[in-house]
Amino acid sequence: MNTPVSEERSATATEKVVDPDAGINVKPSQRRHHTPVELTPQANAKTVGTATVDDPIMSARDVDVFYGDKHAIKKVTLDIGRNQVIAMIGPSGCGKSTFLRCLNRMNDTVEGARVEGSITLDGADIYEKRQDVVQLRARVGMVFQKPNPFPKSIYENVAYGPRIHGLAADRVELDEIVQTSLQRAGLWEEVKDRLPHPGTGLSGGQQQRLCIARTIAVNPEIILMDEPCSALDPIATARIEDLIDELRASYAICIVTHSMQQAARVSQRTAYFHLGDLIEVGETDRIFTNPRHKLTEDYITGRFG
Ligand code: ADP
Repeated sequence: MNTPVSEERSATATEKVVDPDAGINVKPSQRRHHTPVELTPQANAKTVGTATVDDPIMSARDVDVFYGDKHAIKKVTLDIGRNQVIAMIGPSGCGKSTFLRCLNRMNDTVEGARVEGSITLDGADIYEKRQDVVQLRARVGMVFQKPNPFPKSIYENVAYGPRIHGLAADRVELDEIVQTSLQRAGLWEEVKDRLPHPGTGLSGGQQQRLCIARTIAVNPEIILMDEPCSALDPIATARIEDLIDELRASYAICIVTHSMQQAARVSQRTAYFHLGDLIEVGETDRIFTNPRHKLTEDYITGRFG
């Protein structure tokens, strides 16, 4: 399990290919990225760096994802470590969000999406037929790009999950879960006097922390974050980044970010994706100071992206 599955591969890319989908990708924010045509790494080539960790909480092995004919993720092998943050970086459209969504089966809801390979959580296959997907998404929670509180009160936003999962025996216990979750999300002091007010009335940064509190409330083991700060101003972003650093004491965190500075600030490991391949993975400091693959180097030095 813990043997490194990846070794050096040639850093020389092979051929120029124009991928019609590679150059443009529209995010929920409608942000568009135009990527220049890149050297395409060989499909299924081995990842540079060490994709495994000791005692992983989650392990992906040879994961492929297809949207119809589109091969969006190619034989990706990667472990998620406990109590650490792993950042997924790479040009828009390279498959970061697709890979993230595999980890709690969010791709199940995307028509035409097909996932192959194996993904285990604490050793158990999450794509097993018997796997309860609602239960899985409590254990592997997700925070989205745009804060999306329910159109309910601040209290109800946090209480909803514990209630449907039967985590509180009575109102006193539920109150405790709501308070603890809001405290852990760094929001309690700002909202404790207005819990019955609508969650949607909070500022963007507060809404995102409310969504984090909602995720925490059901005792997740992993928190997936898909560009959680891209709709926020720099001050709200800094608060979320501080929070991510605190949360890793209790959870494994997987964050997709288009900001290399953010990846460098919040993560301990970084995974660099390019056109569906996991090109390189390793300690964040090493990736940003001494990338081994030319594509990683080109990306972090701003030659494309
Ligand atoms: P990233 O998060 O790195 O920007 P995505 O995971 O969103 O990349 O997309 C990877 C590739 O899969 C892109 O080529 C994108 O156009 C395609 N893709 C993403 N979602 C869908 C979908 N629902 N249907 C078809 N193609 C998709």
